[in-house]
Amino acid sequence: MKKEVILTGDRPTGKLHIGHYVGSLINRVKLQDTNDYDMNIMIADTQALTDNARNPEKIRNSLLEVLLDYLAVGIDPKKSNIFIQSQIPELNELTMHYLNLVSLSRLERNPTVKNEIKERGFENSIPAGFLIYPVSQAADITAFKAELVPVGEDQLPMIEQTREIVRSFNSIYKTNILIEPKAIIPEGISARLPGIDGKSKMSKSLGNTIYLSDDEDTIRKKIMSMYTDPNHIRVEDPGNIEGNVVFTYLEIFCKDKILLNEMKEHYKRGGLGDVKIKKYLNEILQAELKPIRVRRNDFEKNKDYLYEILREGSLIARNIATNTLDEVRNAIGINYFN
Ligand code: ATP
Ligand code: MG
Repeated sequence: MKKEVILTGDRPTGKLHIGHYVGSLINRVKLQDTNDYDMNIMIADTQALTDNARNPEKIRNSLLEVLLDYLAVGIDPKKSNIFIQSQIPELNELTMHYLNLVSLSRLERNPTVKNEIKERGFENSIPAGFLIYPVSQAADITAFKAELVPVGEDQLPMIEQTREIVRSFNSIYKTNILIEPKAIIPEGISARLPGIDGKSKMSKSLGNTIYLSDDEDTIRKKIMSMYTDPNHIRVEDPGNIEGNVVFTYLEIFCKDKILLNEMKEHYKRGGLGDVKIKKYLNEILQAELKPIRVRRNDFEKNKDYLYEILREGSLIARNIATNTLDEVRNAIGINYFN
């Protein structure tokens, strides 16, 4: 029986952080290990260049970092096909064909892109490639005929955009070759882990991260600097749990829910200091991240193996994308010489 196809990925704009971990990596490993799916994982370097065109070294240098993070959390290249977006030029032609099915105003309405434009200060000069990256994502997803796309919440508008493109394409060219994908979003706060500054989602581009590769000391310092409740000044003061990043993270990582509830009540009443809750979070996060870091350091010693994974994965992916592009050209009617 044909397995359901999954496509996910990350932009190689830096190392991966615990937002990626709870928002998508854990879930990917779970799905991979069921063996029920055809798993494809794309390192989206072309997409990363849309807002980093003047800084290609950053993207190039992040390729292996992202792969190392994958391997460290348990993504297994024997079970999941890991490949590099830029090595599949067929995706670009698909993007061109899809761009004709999308209006400029539709692209400008995308709430995630709007927000990212603001965050990156692009208001006065948006790189055209950046504005259209949701269309290139549609190319990625449809090239692999992915049915399921596990992503964080910020990616929902992209999946919606892809679904619209698929419907337009299939109806205009009277075909059913393209598949409408469904997003798989984690439950609750994991879908959008806030940064340690408490301001917005944890994101490589915002510098509010805890990386999977951070050493013990760095993790501790970051936790100690975390945003809590600005009005909780003296230990005796009643404190606020809402928007308090330490409690948000405890909610996700602390397995002892009874103890956590007691701590919350104590904090709200007053008498529980920020240093105490931070120390507790530090204990828990260190225990979670240490084995990941150890595995990461091991894989890092074998660069040849890392490149081999990417080279082989990209070859497999390119074959699949070539087949889809062929079908797309046939549907449009531009396969003149076949
Ligand atoms: P950048 O700042 O370069 O966009 P990013 O940190 O937002 O980097 P992406 O590579 O854009 O990371 O995201 C990869 C995947 O991880 C997406 O599915 C995204 O939804 C998910 N993700 C990213 N940040 C978080 C977060 N803070 N919480 C949950 N999921 C996240
Ligand atoms: Mg992002």
